[in-house]
Amino acid sequence: MATHKLLLLPGDGIGTEIMVEVKKVIDWFNSQSSHSFELENDLVGGAAYDAHGEAITDAAMDLAQAADAIVFGAVGGPKWDTVPYDKRPEAGLLRLRKDLGLFANLRPAICYPALADASSLKRDIVEGLDILIVRELTGGVYFGEPKEIVTLENGEKRAVDTQLYTTGEIERIARVAFDMARTRSNKVSSSEKNNVMKSGVLWKQVVSDVHQAEYSDVELDHILADNCGMQLVRRPKQFDVIVCDNLFGDMLSDVAAMLTGSLGMLPSASLGEPDPATGKRKAMYEPVHGSAPDIAGQGLANPIAMIASLAMTMRYSLGMVEEATMVETAIANVLADGLRTGDIAGAGGNAVSTDEMGSAILSQIQKIAG
Ligand code: NAD
Repeated sequence: MATHKLLLLPGDGIGTEIMVEVKKVIDWFNSQSSHSFELENDLVGGAAYDAHGEAITDAAMDLAQAADAIVFGAVGGPKWDTVPYDKRPEAGLLRLRKDLGLFANLRPAICYPALADASSLKRDIVEGLDILIVRELTGGVYFGEPKEIVTLENGEKRAVDTQLYTTGEIERIARVAFDMARTRSNKVSSSEKNNVMKSGVLWKQVVSDVHQAEYSDVELDHILADNCGMQLVRRPKQFDVIVCDNLFGDMLSDVAAMLTGSLGMLPSASLGEPDPATGKRKAMYEPVHGSAPDIAGQGLANPIAMIASLAMTMRYSLGMVEEATMVETAIANVLADGLRTGDIAGAGGNAVSTDEMGSAILSQIQKIAG
């Protein structure tokens, strides 16, 4: 029997509530299938700060390094707004990404037919939407140095962030995007701003070079990031895979998120380089949304993004493709049956709790499994 080592990091706010629903699904697979999960649990974010004075401990990082995959909830909340910058909840997430070398963030945006009316766009524009945003995650302006606020001689302040990319960083993210496209509709749109940014000029050149040398069977186009944002709300189904840097990816993937109806629907994966010996990548899976302090502790959170993140874990890290499809089909079936949490219920619609939605998805999985 194949054993998979998972590290569960629920985090803060609704992170802890939606992880309970993931655990239900894992426990059931553990009781049934030919795969078994070995689970470790630890703290991250504000919860880790409260317990240990830092957003993630070295011990938790050791567990993360040893795991086949990490399943992460969400971090943050107003309680920790005033903690020192290097200890804020997000520092735990950034350390995981940096230390594990998770440079590729995969964010699928799928519009379930049952939810097309929950999108802010018209049904015909979003129904059947299935795009994948591949975002560079460990470079660019969020990490480039200098990064500082300095006081000038005249007393004014000046803030500096540095957008910085090397050829190698662009090549490896481009390869992930082209590889993913080959498993989908075989089209990559590379998004940058080469008209005003040197990093955009290099990005476009390197993506073109990788394309020409290794992936000429994949269709490639280049699109300025501002136009990409516009096209995403105008005609999103023209896209298959969009590849972009850290900053533009952050924004474009949130735009794509709203096309699908709710942030509570969207999973994501963050992948590292393949290990030369085993071919396995370090990987972390998490919902796109945050810790939603406004609804935390009330049983209102939609657990679908979190459960869909488990499905991605199965598909991309554990070789459990059939089981992943089962989980995804169960989610689609539950939605088709009309079940909704508050975020996707629409005005006046009946909403179920986090627990009810999680249990309904599990029942569907059990039904599909026969
Ligand atoms: P958020 O994603 O937490 O919430 C935005 C809105 O969407 C809120 O109204 C929330 O109630 C709703 N929402 C989000 N997920 C939902 C779900 N599963 N079900 C139902 N409704 C849901 O973003 P925010 O409010 O900007 O940030 C809150 C905190 O989360 C902040 O501290 C922020 O720094 C942090 N954050 C963390 C992550 C992460 O851990 N990866 C990502 C984004 C924000």
